[in-house]
Amino acid sequence: MCSIHTVLVFALVATTIFTPVYGLEVCQSTDRDCHSHDEKALDTVKSRWNMSVSNLIQNLDQFSVSCKKLIEAFPIDEVDGDFVRTVKNCIFSKSIPTPLKGPLRLAAVSKVDVIEGILDVDMAVTQSEEFLHYASGGGLLPGSVPLAHRYGGHQFGYWAGQLGDGRAHSLGQYTNRKGEVWELQLKGSGKTPYSRSGDGRAVIRSSVREFLCSEAMHFLGVPTSRAASLIVSDEPVLRDQFYNGNLKTERGAVVLRLAKSWFRIGSLEILAQSGEIDLLRKLLNFVIDEHFSSIKSDDPDKYLMYYSTVVNETAHLIAQWMSVGFAHGVCNTDNFSLLSITIDFGPFGFMESYNPNFVPNTSDDEGRYRIGAQANVALFNLEKLLMALSPVLSKKQQQEAKIILKGYVDTYQMRIHQLFKSKLGLLGEEEDDGYLIAFLLKMMEDTQSDFTMTFRQLGDVSAQQLHNRNFTQMWALEDLSSHKLFSDWLSMYLLRLSRQQNDNNLDRQHRMNNVNPRYVLRNWMAESAIRKAEMNDFSEVELLHHILSFPFVTQETAEEAGYAARPPLWAKRLKVSCSS
Ligand code: AMP
Ligand code: MG
Repeated sequence: MCSIHTVLVFALVATTIFTPVYGLEVCQSTDRDCHSHDEKALDTVKSRWNMSVSNLIQNLDQFSVSCKKLIEAFPIDEVDGDFVRTVKNCIFSKSIPTPLKGPLRLAAVSKVDVIEGILDVDMAVTQSEEFLHYASGGGLLPGSVPLAHRYGGHQFGYWAGQLGDGRAHSLGQYTNRKGEVWELQLKGSGKTPYSRSGDGRAVIRSSVREFLCSEAMHFLGVPTSRAASLIVSDEPVLRDQFYNGNLKTERGAVVLRLAKSWFRIGSLEILAQSGEIDLLRKLLNFVIDEHFSSIKSDDPDKYLMYYSTVVNETAHLIAQWMSVGFAHGVCNTDNFSLLSITIDFGPFGFMESYNPNFVPNTSDDEGRYRIGAQANVALFNLEKLLMALSPVLSKKQQQEAKIILKGYVDTYQMRIHQLFKSKLGLLGEEEDDGYLIAFLLKMMEDTQSDFTMTFRQLGDVSAQQLHNRNFTQMWALEDLSSHKLFSDWLSMYLLRLSRQQNDNNLDRQHRMNNVNPRYVLRNWMAESAIRKAEMNDFSEVELLHHILSFPFVTQETAEEAGYAARPPLWAKRLKVSCSS
């Protein structure tokens, strides 16, 4: 046992300063009652899914957004028009979406949770022509003054200068009946001053992935932007999917997406880099006032407090990503939110065989954004955030901020340790818990065991089954148990469980199945749905959307579709690139 310990410590330190892939605690948001796996809970959840709310908006003419706050808070680009240019001294440029050419089809819609739950719109409205029109950039919602945001960013380690919303339009903010303020954005809605050499469009495959994954992440309990709808067109869009000179005509699509804010680290960086310090202060004040109510606007340390919050929450976010095996794929500073939520879904991937070197993005040759490096990359991004904040911090505050940043490693380690303990059903704290987790991960790596299903099946089996190594039809555990040290680990795990007072098998299984999803958006699942969607068959997108809205609940249709089964062989050949 001692020797494997040494190997483990070495392997972990060598790959990254952090223990590699370690996992999710429990659902943190308000309504995650859906995570129970028993039949009664499933019925409750299903009835909620079918439930309708009264007094919802029946007509989109009655649905209004407001751009007032954003426009009044900041100077707007003085130059008009969507021609590509370097923009200075503003946060937004006015830019009108370019309508997608029809015929338009509604490929997916998040009816209950987003359309009704967030936007207060009756889901019947989504079947109307006017919905297609508004949600694809064909018309402006009442109150909307569409804006493209100016931001910059560090891409793959280097300052890339001005980036900005090159194919996204913020439509305005909507304040819902719960008093929540959401910023609506179209993605794929045409050129803006920030389009650089791009066409302002997004294709079906990347839009299906963004729609499904942002919703899936929400239901996994991970802070994220949301998606309301996905509209596809017949508009031809040229893409070289694998950057090999093989240009293909694909079809344009628009996602209507939502976040409490779309500001990114790159939003502040561009202001600091170009010396627009008054504007930097203005943007920071706005973000703090609107989104961090516990920070007082007259507190001399408010920027420091904000930084401390972001450092802390980003550590938590990355730990959550790791706990569900999510690799973002492009962790550039322009894709890292100032509110520490997951944004900009591109060539992401859910890790299947456990591998800290898993790289979802085939364009990432050096594996900079491999899953096991995400915690380090987030640290890099937080350093860049600190650089952007430095002009508004005193020397003393800058020193304090550096100390705050140093705390990131401990916060991350603590959080990931908690999450993986939950994934194993462990209660309390014992000295060897870290070792027990790392030992398991090392065996998973050696045996290429499936990340999601190994943990899920450990929660599905009883202690007796574990003891007897009775893993019939448990394909991930069969793989894991082929490891020569599996018995050693199992004895240790069973002993650890047996020491848990006030715990029993059923409670442990219940706890574990509430944190270990049975279904995640594997590439092959998305790919299969995309192929159909490209032929105007959206049934699989809808099926996946529904199933991934209850990722912890065993569902018959999902089982029939093989979503919890060993991935098909063709899944290994799939590639996802930045092209979108
Ligand atoms: P992403 O990789 O999607 O985070 O995008 C990085 C930058 O490239 C952002 O500024 C995007 O707005 C821009 N971009 C990506 N694709 C396009 C496109 N097709 N047209 C215009 N801008 C784009
Ligand atoms: Mg982006």
